[in-house]
Amino acid sequence: MNSISGKSDIDWTAFAAELAPVEVISEPVLVKKRSRDFFWYSPILNKELRTCFGDLVACPKSPDEMRQVLAVVYSHDAPVVLRGGGTGNYGQAVPVEGGLIIETTRMNRILEIGDGFVRAEAGAFMADINAALKDHGQEMAMFPSTQDIATIGGFVAGGSAGIGSVANGALRDPGNLIALKAMSVEGTPAEYVFEGEDVLHIHHAWGLNGVITEVTLRTVPARNWWGCMATFDSYGAAYAAGCALAQAPDIARKLISTVDARITQYFPRLEGHIRQDRHLLVSLVPAEDVDRFRALMEGMGGSVDLAMSDAEREEKRLPHVFDFSYDHTTLQVLKADRSATYQQIGCPIPPDPAKIDALRPKLGDDVWMHHEFARLGGEIVTFDLPIIWFSTPERLAEINAVYEDNGFPVYDAHTWQVEGGGLKNADYRHLAWKKRMDPKGLLNSAKSAAWAEVKDLTPEQIEAKATA
Ligand SMILES: Cc1cc2nc3c(=O)[nH]c(=O)nc-3n(C[C@H](O)[C@H](O)[C@H](O)COP(=O)(O)OP(=O)(O)OC[C@H]3O[C@@H](n4cnc5c(N)ncnc54)[C@H](O)[C@@H]3O)c2cc1C
Repeated sequence: MNSISGKSDIDWTAFAAELAPVEVISEPVLVKKRSRDFFWYSPILNKELRTCFGDLVACPKSPDEMRQVLAVVYSHDAPVVLRGGGTGNYGQAVPVEGGLIIETTRMNRILEIGDGFVRAEAGAFMADINAALKDHGQEMAMFPSTQDIATIGGFVAGGSAGIGSVANGALRDPGNLIALKAMSVEGTPAEYVFEGEDVLHIHHAWGLNGVITEVTLRTVPARNWWGCMATFDSYGAAYAAGCALAQAPDIARKLISTVDARITQYFPRLEGHIRQDRHLLVSLVPAEDVDRFRALMEGMGGSVDLAMSDAEREEKRLPHVFDFSYDHTTLQVLKADRSATYQQIGCPIPPDPAKIDALRPKLGDDVWMHHEFARLGGEIVTFDLPIIWFSTPERLAEINAVYEDNGFPVYDAHTWQVEGGGLKNADYRHLAWKKRMDPKGLLNSAKSAAWAEVKDLTPEQIEAKATA
């Protein structure tokens, strides 16, 4: 079998035979399809990653099959990338060095639902977990807006927060990610258990320091959430209403997003349901708090255009309100116009509508704000995921500089290495565990710029750099 990536001299036919009885996918079109994620959100990443392909896909169905795959990987020194639903935005799951892709979606059993937790295999889809929890009167403390096609393992390895985070914090906040199991890439792969704070050794390491096989996440009592949308005459007023809602003592909420009016013209499915050309606040509020939500929004100068139960939404064939939040907001625009892109921006803490108002005129007409509200480490924070009408990398750099110069840190969404984006600096704790779990450096190694610098050190020497 020829190498699809053009980067490998491994005999992939023989490799596939060694994997048996583990199912494989070798059809080049299908392998190429599974070599992609949502990196195309960024024109810069699209240029850099669109011709990066793996050579073969393995689809283990159990931890035993996963162990077998990893032993074969080790014996061939094959580059390997884990893949759940492939919904990451920065090429996290793209095999830039070619090699094997391990798709986890057949390892998808929900193993246990208890009071306040769910334990599932890494390839279980978030939406399936949420559906199973419903029968137990519970729901995920948070989930990504991609829940239909994103896996719990991919969320823990690549994600950070989501719907529910404004109430329950980010994944990394204590108690949310209760435990995980991860396998090493060795001749005889070992499965390690990480609990409590130790889960942070593996969380958000982009699958480069261990293969997550099982995850235990916190759950919360289910509520009858209503999708709500309020509209405002100014963006500042919508953002201020978001701040008030996030602090309201008598209104629960598991989502607060604010969206510039210009973006809402790309929401055709909301036509007739929200006022046109108005700035939007999107929220999920329990049925019993909707009246108080309405009063708060009206008191802040808004109009509640939409408030509906899930049953009514389904009857009207409307999407979930969270389809207009997080990175789905960008997706709605990209569906109509591929020249749009986005960025990830931190905002001053505590959130301050005056600072948003002061910043808006400094950004050009090619930057349309969209904020998400979350609770991080107990504090309410916001981050901007603006739509940016991409022209050149230089203009993008200029926009980043305006944000940074005004005290809004940029967590670059246009880089495919872990240190360039949300993490900002090398995480030596992650890399020390990579050395333990993946001594040959086969797991998604190109995604860490710092790995090359530390790969010949011992785990202890790498860890020491974290405190240096
Ligand atoms: C429209 C849209 C909306 C989004 N909304 C959110 C959001 O609300 N919150 C959020 O945090 N993210 C969000 N994301 C990013 C992404 O969808 C989530 O992080 C998602 O949970 C990733 O899951 P996945 O199964 O698709 O992972 P993949 O994309 O398949 O993988 C993500 C990373 O995890 C690694 N990985 C996957 N499985 C394993 C495993 N078993 N062991 C080790 N490593 C593994 C991969 O190698 C890759 O580095 C969004 C993306 C898009 C395109």
